[in-house]
Amino acid sequence: MTAEVINGKELAAEIKAEMKAEVSRLREQGLIPHLTVVLVGDDPASKSYINGKKKASGEIGISSQIIELPSSTTEKELLELIDRLNHDRDVHGILVQLPLPEHIQEQSIIEAIDPAKDVDGFHPINVGRMMTGKDSFLSCTPYGIITMLKSRDIQIAGKHAVVIGRSNIVGKPVGQLLLNENATVTYCHSKTADLKHHTQQADILVVAVGRANAIDADYLKGGAVVVDVGINRLADGSLTGDVDFDSAKEKAAYITPVPKGVGPMTITMLLKNTIKAAIGLADH
Ligand code: NDP
Repeated sequence: MTAEVINGKELAAEIKAEMKAEVSRLREQGLIPHLTVVLVGDDPASKSYINGKKKASGEIGISSQIIELPSSTTEKELLELIDRLNHDRDVHGILVQLPLPEHIQEQSIIEAIDPAKDVDGFHPINVGRMMTGKDSFLSCTPYGIITMLKSRDIQIAGKHAVVIGRSNIVGKPVGQLLLNENATVTYCHSKTADLKHHTQQADILVVAVGRANAIDADYLKGGAVVVDVGINRLADGSLTGDVDFDSAKEKAAYITPVPKGVGPMTITMLLKNTIKAAIGLADH
């Protein structure tokens, strides 16, 4: 079996075309969705991510602004900025790029963002609403993964989904979303005994470990759906996922590549959340 590749870049382009038309309609009604991205410090990877977010926003007509602050910024100063953005009616979405410098408590910042503007979906209110199956801002990577599965009408209900990774931004919420879609979910992590035993039972395997080629065909059940979330930079500068794509694609039914997989979907879902935030606020 050779797997069907779910190209996240192509799917993202289709969704962005639809969103562009929607933003254009909103603009005609006088509503310009706006995203403010805050970067503290000068981490090159973070800079590249936020520039990607700004570019993608511009492509579909969302207005965006990047606020860059020095790494010496105090937690109090950042909280004051967030308070100002929370009260600015022209700002619909607020995203503080993580990681933050060590002297700033990430959780205090996440919890300071107005949940109605929390387009990253990290605020405990949004996480809790997602857990209880209520409408919420879904965190972008898990939301993108579910959208990829649905784009191919992949059955989730009744399937055994195995998630490797339990971070708050990827592993935990993607498992929760799969559960919300009626999958039977198993979480694996660094303390899991006999990882292969679990992964070989997965109808849907989501890999969010952060180590190149951590998973190869031996870990898979034949005909599995494999979602590779990992982004690892190799010594030659190229990007690769957590899954050994070449071997896995000979055994899986569906597989997402890296690059052009989950990454482009993550940014696209951020734009979707920003539009949702703009419409939500406009109704107030
Ligand atoms: P974290 O480092 O926060 O989490 C990694 C998870 O993998 C942890 O739960 C860890 O377990 C688990 N793990 C580590 N080693 C093993 C092992 N040998 N066996 C089983 N589990 C293991 O990473 P993130 O969740 O933030 O990101 C994961 C990957 O996804 C990274 O490559 C990141 O770059 C990428 N990413 C991609 C995005 C995209 O848009 N495509 C967005 C966000 C992240 P434990 O909890 O026990 O430590």
